[in-house]
Amino acid sequence: MRKQIAAANWKMNLSIQQAEDLMDEILKMEYGLSDNQEVLIAVPFPYLMRIKEKLSTQKQFNICAQNSAATKNGAYTGETSAEILKSIDVFYAIIGHSERREYFHENNQLLAQKIDLALASGIKPVFCCGEPLSIREANNQNDYVETQLKESLFHLNATQMKNFIIAYEPIWAIGTGKTASSHQAQEMHLHIRTVLCTQYGHEIANSISILYGGSVKASNAAEIFEKPDVDGGLVGGASLVAAEFSTIIKSLKK
Ligand code: PEP
Repeated sequence: MRKQIAAANWKMNLSIQQAEDLMDEILKMEYGLSDNQEVLIAVPFPYLMRIKEKLSTQKQFNICAQNSAATKNGAYTGETSAEILKSIDVFYAIIGHSERREYFHENNQLLAQKIDLALASGIKPVFCCGEPLSIREANNQNDYVETQLKESLFHLNATQMKNFIIAYEPIWAIGTGKTASSHQAQEMHLHIRTVLCTQYGHEIANSISILYGGSVKASNAAEIFEKPDVDGGLVGGASLVAAEFSTIIKSLKK
């Protein structure tokens, strides 16, 4: 069975003290996670090592970066490369979050470079895709997301695609409190899986976890996650509240 994943995206929030307290709170609860369930915690870069240490005794919890650079190394002030992440044993990175696309002008081609470098360093990308409201209103979301996948991922071979997590995050649902219905989520996830199947075949398409992101909270997680092609969630706001995020973890399919 595909991995069921709850991924926290703390974005640019919390002091180190608050971050450690939040992590401790989340880890206090009992989850009884099975081997096909996993929790990722994407923290600001300076906290990666400290929070990773806290996770070291937790088999199903892994640390995750929120970004990684489009260049290998060198004079790129302020950037953090996949090689640097690897050197501190961080093996997951969110790539292509809509906030990076919007505020830092990351396009599909640049994201393809980031993906290549991440994979070359053994880092598993959590690749984000999703349409803005205008595209959804015009009912063009399937073509839009398909283009994102094609332009950023489809140069990869089947073996590389095995190391992938995809997060479908409709932009109109991120941080807005407006969640896609579980039906809308399932519809898009099935579309993504079908597109992956056409390109890479059934086995690969069925092995890739596709997370839903966009105002997931304790009260709606179970309904969304129970859909057959939804393999968990990428969670922003609600991941900053221990009680919320722990309920979201417990809502993963077994
Ligand atoms: C996100 O940051 O990826 C996200 C989905 O945020 P939120 O859960 O706050 O909508």
